[in-house]
Amino acid sequence: MATSNVRVVLRIRPFIPSEIDDRSNGTPESCVTVVDNDEFNTLDGGEVTVQIKDRLSSRKECYKLDSIYNQENDLLPIFQQEVTKIIPEIFQGSNGTVFTYGATGSGKTYTMQGTDEHPGLIALALSSIFSTSKIAGGSVEISYYEVYLDRCYDLLEPKAKEIMVLEDKDGIIQFKGLSKISVGSMEEFDQIFSCGVQRREVAQTGLNDVSSRSHGILSIFVSTKIKSTDALVTGKLNLIDLAGYEENRRTYNEVIRLQESAKINQSLFALSNVIYALNNNEVRVPYRESKLTRILQDSLGGPNQSLLIACLNPVSYSEAIHTVGLAARSRHV
Ligand code: ADP
Ligand code: MG
Repeated sequence: MATSNVRVVLRIRPFIPSEIDDRSNGTPESCVTVVDNDEFNTLDGGEVTVQIKDRLSSRKECYKLDSIYNQENDLLPIFQQEVTKIIPEIFQGSNGTVFTYGATGSGKTYTMQGTDEHPGLIALALSSIFSTSKIAGGSVEISYYEVYLDRCYDLLEPKAKEIMVLEDKDGIIQFKGLSKISVGSMEEFDQIFSCGVQRREVAQTGLNDVSSRSHGILSIFVSTKIKSTDALVTGKLNLIDLAGYEENRRTYNEVIRLQESAKINQSLFALSNVIYALNNNEVRVPYRESKLTRILQDSLGGPNQSLLIACLNPVSYSEAIHTVGLAARSRHV
């Protein structure tokens, strides 16, 4: 029986134009290289060893992960090899979660949301869900909310509204008043979701780039009827653009930022602890350590499959060490 139910993979984004312009003679000033020591092609249960090297010094670190996806714009490999394994389970009534995790600027949002030319995981997953749902005669609904400083805000309401999270006696997490909107097509979804994305970007005005300091959670609910019994089966897929890991030295001057980055790092650490406990079959899973992990209590663990995508920008050695260090720590050992 499979025990490791949260796969941890790495994705490295390419250099972006501003980074290329910064280079004096065509070679980047500082760069992370990831060397795969094992078989590149990991099958289920396989693992890769990545080496992160600082181009400026001789420092390097090695970590083991489930798989690595290199500097490609194309998300199809990661979608086909990782996410398509999770989707059929949703139709059987289980919950699944895909996280993008990493420092600000590492490509988390790009990986989830993509562009018109390069659809992100959200669009790829939804089109697959829509086609399966059509065949099965099912229905699709979405919720979209953010977790900011341990508070939850509904992003599908005209004015981002705070919502309460409660746990019922069976341990099921209930969101009081969270919108759940039925979507029938990609076009309909795009319209609703893009409003939510805008709300996430403009929430808490006065602070720049809030979107990278909140966890953005899109939940896709899929309901289908089992033919033989007529019973309704509902599963959900959470697609989570996690807040960027913050290095404190960057934000040291501002009190609110410090409080924020402490909360962000605490919730990312709590998530890593939960994933570690699940992947290592520990009896006690510390869901209660943060709001984020409490919310995901009914989605992580048990038969539910999840995927943590650690995103790296190829420039920063210290960010890479933090990101991959925490990701590798979460894995099955
Ligand atoms: P994050 O959400 O982690 O803060 P973003 O997704 O906003 O990072 O990405 C940072 C920048 O890098 C953006 O300008 C984005 O367009 C670009 N980028 C990220 N990933 C890729 C990629 N795979 N291919 C091309 N550009 C990318
Ligand atoms: Mg982002």
